[in-house]
Amino acid sequence: MAHDEPQAGGPTRLVIRNIGLLLSGAMEKPILDADTIVAENGKITGIGRTKDIDAEGATTIIDANGTTVAPGLIDSHVHPVAGDWTPRQNQIGWIDSYLHGGVTTMISAGEVHMPGRPRDVVGLKAMAIFAQRAFWTLRPGGVKVHAGAPVIEAEMVEEDFKELAAAGVKLLGEVGLGGVKDGPTARKMVGWARKYGIQSTIHTGGPSIPGSGLIDKDVVLEADTDVVGHINGGHTALPDDQIRCICEGCKRGLELVHNGNERSALYTLRTAQEMGDLSRIILGTDAPAGSGVQPLGILRMVSLLSSLGEVPAEIAFCFATGNTARMRALDCGLIEVGRSADFVIMDRAQHSPGNTILDSVRLGDLPGIGMTIIDGIVRTQRSRNTPPATRVPMIVGH
Ligand SMILES: [Zn+2]
Repeated sequence: MAHDEPQAGGPTRLVIRNIGLLLSGAMEKPILDADTIVAENGKITGIGRTKDIDAEGATTIIDANGTTVAPGLIDSHVHPVAGDWTPRQNQIGWIDSYLHGGVTTMISAGEVHMPGRPRDVVGLKAMAIFAQRAFWTLRPGGVKVHAGAPVIEAEMVEEDFKELAAAGVKLLGEVGLGGVKDGPTARKMVGWARKYGIQSTIHTGGPSIPGSGLIDKDVVLEADTDVVGHINGGHTALPDDQIRCICEGCKRGLELVHNGNERSALYTLRTAQEMGDLSRIILGTDAPAGSGVQPLGILRMVSLLSSLGEVPAEIAFCFATGNTARMRALDCGLIEVGRSADFVIMDRAQHSPGNTILDSVRLGDLPGIGMTIIDGIVRTQRSRNTPPATRVPMIVGH
């Protein structure tokens, strides 16, 4: 289990050349006409053709060997607790396993599995600030875990949100997992959070585990969180007519999770597509959970939505990258100068019937991952978790 520091020492200049297919993460132009990326000190500084790009002074050169480069995947919905351990299934190394599934950024929807989780206001604020600090200091495998997501309780007042924001808390955990389960109270507190720059999400659907409750469309619409957390349930989804009401009744993010109802995910996707609103679709795993952890969960969602939802694979990758980055104001998730140099390098899995990686995903297969890069630093080479990639990139020079 690797526990890297957030930044590597010294200046770095990464060059990735011989890229066969470059996925941008942006729905308006999902494929870029380029075969080379340059990143300096963890940020993208050049995208173009090898002949036009200055590779002088590279500290690392990667020959992509004709494979596909995409922004590192973002899991919009995880429940971390402490370091790379989850008490939910008593497992260690789960975040490092996700990195082998191409996930370079995670967003906490609340550290709700903390044994003995405090419910009093001082205690829940302290826990959120602690989690934010701890996960920013220690990144398992280099993965950027945005944690410190307090779950609101009825006793909270506006000053609490102001104090949390001043301490560096930027997220609320899923509304509904604590004592606040009614629309008016949720709306008031979500408004306070927004006023101080804290993003919000909500638990949509039936109870996930004993102790959580039902959140229906009326509560979701009234609470008006920035993201409609697992609109396909986690696991138990709302009826289709309620899902449609939510899609049509707001302009907020529509989060589809692996730990949810897959039919409802496809129903939401089709509804968003009819509305011309695919830019609202973002992906999460909602793990660790009762269903375990899913290191390949984001790739599996991309493949599910592309193959059964009939969305081009290059668009489905945007759900897990650029859409989430834009909605959550992250500096990664898009292949764009100035963004974080967080990449996943993939190829068609060995023996997949598709002719290209995009065909193979459209046919329901997962791609094979050959390398992950975070902040311009190679974190993993051939994935230990995906099916083996047909071709893999190589580090050819330092
Ligand atoms: Zn939930």
